[in-house]
Amino acid sequence: MYELYATEVVDKIKRQEIAAEDYVESIIERILRVDGKINAFITPTFKEAREKAREIDRRISRGEKVGRLAGVTVAIKDNICTLNIRTTCASRMLENFIPPYDATVIERLKHEDAIIIGKTNMDEFAMGSTTETSYFGPTRNPWDPTKVPGGSSGGSAAALIADEAALALGSDTGGSIRCPASYCSVIGLKPTYGLVSRYGLIAYANSLEQIGPLAKSVADCALLLSIIGGYDPRDSTSANLPLANYFSALEGDLKGLKVGLPKEFFGEGIEESVKKHVWSAIHILEDLGVTYEEISLPSLKYALATYYIIAMSEASSNLARYDGIRYGYRVERDDADWSKIYAKNRRIGFGAEVRRRIILGTYALSAGYYEQYYLKALKIRTLIRREFESTLKRFNALIGPTMPLPPFNIGEKIQDPLTLYMCDILTVPANLIGYPAISIPCGFENNLPIGLQIISKPFNESMLLKISFAFEGNTHFTKRKPRL
Ligand code: GLN
Repeated sequence: MYELYATEVVDKIKRQEIAAEDYVESIIERILRVDGKINAFITPTFKEAREKAREIDRRISRGEKVGRLAGVTVAIKDNICTLNIRTTCASRMLENFIPPYDATVIERLKHEDAIIIGKTNMDEFAMGSTTETSYFGPTRNPWDPTKVPGGSSGGSAAALIADEAALALGSDTGGSIRCPASYCSVIGLKPTYGLVSRYGLIAYANSLEQIGPLAKSVADCALLLSIIGGYDPRDSTSANLPLANYFSALEGDLKGLKVGLPKEFFGEGIEESVKKHVWSAIHILEDLGVTYEEISLPSLKYALATYYIIAMSEASSNLARYDGIRYGYRVERDDADWSKIYAKNRRIGFGAEVRRRIILGTYALSAGYYEQYYLKALKIRTLIRREFESTLKRFNALIGPTMPLPPFNIGEKIQDPLTLYMCDILTVPANLIGYPAISIPCGFENNLPIGLQIISKPFNESMLLKISFAFEGNTHFTKRKPRL
C-alpha cells in the first residue's frame, strides 16, 4: 500500500476500501525498512500519525465528513514549524527546538486530515544543494546511495521516491525544491512569491523563498498546491488573490502553446547528457503541439552572483536572532563576557557553511560595501525581472534543464563552495524574480534521473501543471522507481 499516490489514498480511504490505520502502518514499516540506508527523516512522528489515522477511520465509520487529504501521509521539511514536534532546521543550533505553533501550511494540511509522518532532513538552515550540511548526517540518493539526493529539501524528495510518504513539503530559496526533485525523480514546484504563506517557515532569505509541494505525480502536486496555496493575513507578503483551480488546469491539450528556450540554459557548464534528455523532452512536447523558439536572456549571467549576495545578506540578518540567549544552542559554562558567550554559542551551534554565509552577508551589508554589493545586486535583480517580464509576453513558458549536471558523489563538491554554488545557476533566476517554476522527471542517464524545468508568469502555476501533466501522460519517467 505504501506506493499509492495521494489521490488514490484519499479515494480508497473515503470509499472504505482500505483503512487509514493499515495504510499508515504500511508506510511506517517501509520507513523502518529503508530509511537506515537513506536518512530522509530527522524526526519521524509515528505516534501522532497512528493516532490521526485511527481518528480518521473512526470518523469515516460514523459517516462523518473527512478532508481532501484524508489519511494521506505527508513528509515535512524540518524548517517548517510543527506544533509540539521538534523543528531543527538540521542544525545543532535548533536541535531541541519544539515550536509552540503550526505554520499556516501545516494548519491547512491538518484541516484537510493529512497525516504528518515525519520531519525531513535538509541542508542546515536550507543552505546548500546536496543535503550534506545537515547536523544529522547526509541524506543518500535512493537511486544510488553514493550520490547526493540534491538539496536543500533532499530528505523530502528522497522520502517520496523511496515510497516513505505520499506527499512532501519543501522550501525553495534558490532551487531547494526543484534541485532534489530533479535528482530524485519526483515533481517539485516552487510557487509564485506570495502564493503560499511563509508564516512558520524558519527564514533563510525571505525575499526569495516559498514553501512548495513535492509529489510523485502531477495530479498529486496540483492537489497539494490547492491546499497549501492562498491568502494568509499572517504573512505580510501573501497575495490576496483567489486561488486558481489547479485540477481544471490539467485538462485540455497543449496545441498552440509556445515556449522559449533561453540559450543561456543550454550553454557553457551544462553537461551534454543533460542537454540530450532535455532536448528529447522538448521534441516530445513538440509532438504534443507545442512550438518553441530559441531566445537569449543576457542578464542571466549575473543571476548567480546577484542571488548569493542577496541570499547571504538576508541570511546574516535573519540568523542574528540565534545567540543562545533568546534562542538556540547554549554552551554549558557561560560565565564569560556576553559577547564571548554569543560568539561561542554561534561557533558551536552553527556549521561551517552557515557561518561562512553569515560572515559574507554581514560584509556585504556593512557600511561602505553596501552600495558596492547589496544595492547593486538589488538593481540587477530588477533588470533580470524586466527581461523575463518582456520575454514572457511572447511565450506561455520558458523551458530548460533544472540542474546543469546529473547527481554527483557525496563528498565530491562539498569542500569547494564555489563549484557547489554553480549548480544553482539554472534555478536561482525564478527566485530572484518571484516567478513560478517546476521540475519534472524527463530522463535517466546511467540510471540517474534528469529533470526538466518549466518557468511561467506570476500566478500561472496552472500553465506549469498543464504542460507537466501532458508530458507525464505521454512518457513513463514518473513511473520508474529505484530498487531498494
Ligand atoms: N542552493 C541554494 C543555496 O544554497 C538554494 C538553497 C535553497 O533554495 N534553500 O542558497
